Amino acid sequence: MPAAKPARNASISAMRRALLAWFGRHRRPMPWREKVSAYRTVVSELMCQQTQIATAIPYFEKWTAKWPDFKDLAKAEESEVLALWAGLGYYSRARNLLNLAKQVAALKSPPRTAAEWREFKGVGPYTAAAIASIAFAEPVAVVDGNVVRVLARLDGVRAKLRDASSAAKLFTSRADELVDPKQPGDFNQAMMELGATVCRKGEPDCAKCPLAEWCDAKKAGDAQALPRFVSKERKEAVVERALITREGKILLRRNPHTAKRLAGMAEIPVLSSLGVEPAGEPALVRRRTIGTVTYEEKLHALEPKVAEVRRWAKDGELEWVAAEALDGAALSGPHRRWLGEWLSRGGRTARGKRP
Ligand code: SF4
Repeated sequence: MPAAKPARNASISAMRRALLAWFGRHRRPMPWREKVSAYRTVVSELMCQQTQIATAIPYFEKWTAKWPDFKDLAKAEESEVLALWAGLGYYSRARNLLNLAKQVAALKSPPRTAAEWREFKGVGPYTAAAIASIAFAEPVAVVDGNVVRVLARLDGVRAKLRDASSAAKLFTSRADELVDPKQPGDFNQAMMELGATVCRKGEPDCAKCPLAEWCDAKKAGDAQALPRFVSKERKEAVVERALITREGKILLRRNPHTAKRLAGMAEIPVLSSLGVEPAGEPALVRRRTIGTVTYEEKLHALEPKVAEVRRWAKDGELEWVAAEALDGAALSGPHRRWLGEWLSRGGRTARGKRP
């Protein structure tokens, strides 16, 4: 029908206005929103990949106080960068950020478009669009899990989606159609904010939603069930680790820089890698899920024998770290937490001895 296109355009304009007005009233204060720059946007976007905003904020404050721009960060040592990142997880992000800073610091000025940002390792379509739209006002849509949820409900998409990345691809053209060309950064942040605070997983708060009048799922009454994903097979695994202290120091394994996971990070060593057997019940048992695998982590407190200590001295990945120096040891978050718990209980072995 001849009137369809103008009507669609009018409703897109009305949706943008409603969403931006709502964002103006409800935007949550975040340090990277108070003072916007390419560097601060890049740091915040990489930190907030796979990390909750509330967790990332203190890290962002410390990070930008220590390295205020690309040039400062480019001069940092990888060990310092990993130590400051410790606890945020997914440490390849920290290394990617350092490498990115070195490359950007060598340029006359930072790149401006999403296509250019995508050339950097660790910067995917979502992050590139966020940087280009927020820091340089390029009209490209950001499509993260929050935006997928809003769009699936808004358009009533009921087909099962394979996974997060194929869902993001599927919704990109619709998101690009909606993004406000005059305020793309605010629009993208508004969509993500709406998904995080109103159009939440589980129970959406449709009564407070600025897009309610255009929402198919609200009309149909099935918003809670959308988006739908194909369910994944879940697995279980057991990992046994060794809690070993000697003369006030803790034995840790430093992963090589070529490791696929946690490269350059320190971990509580896996028992089998030390050639020792557990004695009695574990001191701690903790469960955690990474992707589709749930791990039962059994942490055994052991007394080292002199021969074992001598043997471990020949293993270049093992190191003794003083308990007071754990903060600077680039330990991953769960390992830091488990060691803290164990030490706060006196670091006892299975026989009740304090090593
Ligand atoms: Fe989400 Fe409800 Fe808003 Fe629709 S009306 S976008 S389901 S919060």
